[in-house]
Amino acid sequence: MSAELMIGTDLAAEMVAKAAERASALQEQYGVQPCLATVLVGDDPASATYVRMKQNRSKKAGIASRSVVLPDSTTTEELVAEITKLSQDPAVHGILLQHPVPPQIDERAAFEAIDPAKDVDGVTMRSFAAMAFGDPGFRSATPGGIMRLLAAYDVPLEGAHAVVIGRSPILGKPAGMLLLASNATVTYAHSRTRDLPELVRTADVVIAAVGKANFVRGDWLKPGAVVVDAGYNEGNVGDVHFAEASEVASLITPVPGGVGPMTIALLLEQTVDAAETAVHSLTGLA
Ligand code: NAP
Repeated sequence: MSAELMIGTDLAAEMVAKAAERASALQEQYGVQPCLATVLVGDDPASATYVRMKQNRSKKAGIASRSVVLPDSTTTEELVAEITKLSQDPAVHGILLQHPVPPQIDERAAFEAIDPAKDVDGVTMRSFAAMAFGDPGFRSATPGGIMRLLAAYDVPLEGAHAVVIGRSPILGKPAGMLLLASNATVTYAHSRTRDLPELVRTADVVIAAVGKANFVRGDWLKPGAVVVDAGYNEGNVGDVHFAEASEVASLITPVPGGVGPMTIALLLEQTVDAAETAVHSLTGLA
């Protein structure tokens, strides 16, 4: 193996520790504990595990959790009503709707029921527009976490060719927009892209967000490329063939321990941001 590992675990732990300090300061100064509400619809075991992980990490950061669990048969109207209640509840500072939701639900309508001031997972159109325009605002948690990891490893983005494989609204698309805001030259690839291996060979930075185990092969990569594997498939396997890619890349994220912890850390950091903003607007300190 020649590539250096871009490890998210330690950086994420630092971010969570800082968020915890800020949460404790809010509690001491204003008697307010930041609170993240999680909304889980249905009984998909993987989604339930992700929500539990987020709640456990919240606790470690001194962030309270509010858990809403709804049955698989929930309608869009019922889900929107639950999220609207959380949006209006002043004790809740951040709202996370676990993705994916059952197929009968209009996920966009549900995401848009989240008050943009509480959109700590960065899924609303408001947050999307902020990322596209380069405005301040909440980042989609996974792409935002990826950008922090690239910055921590001093990956030069200006003028670099970044190929983002995947264009989902929560991952691929916002990842490309954030890379563009850092002056990378961005190409999006997706299921209809032709000659994907050829295209990936032109990339200085590859973001794999496909949802297919071991999809990106070592011989697709330019020697020295920086490889970020956002994928998470059954058996702790990423979207990049790690053994092959780590022989060619200069930097690569492991799975697990790369992008995953950064996603949760950013979610918690943004929850504390939201709580601080709410407190400051109430106390006139904004
Ligand atoms: P998604 O909504 O299913 O999107 C997958 C994307 O991959 C789509 O844009 C699709 O293209 C593209 N794609 C599918 N097959 C392809 C192919 N053969 N060639 C090129 N592109 C192809 O998935 P997602 O929610 O973005 O998640 C992607 C991965 O990231 C999954 O492994 C997921 O578990 C992981 N993930 C990790 C985190 C984390 O915190 N680490 C968070 C979220 C997701 P089309 O648009 O053309 O269909």
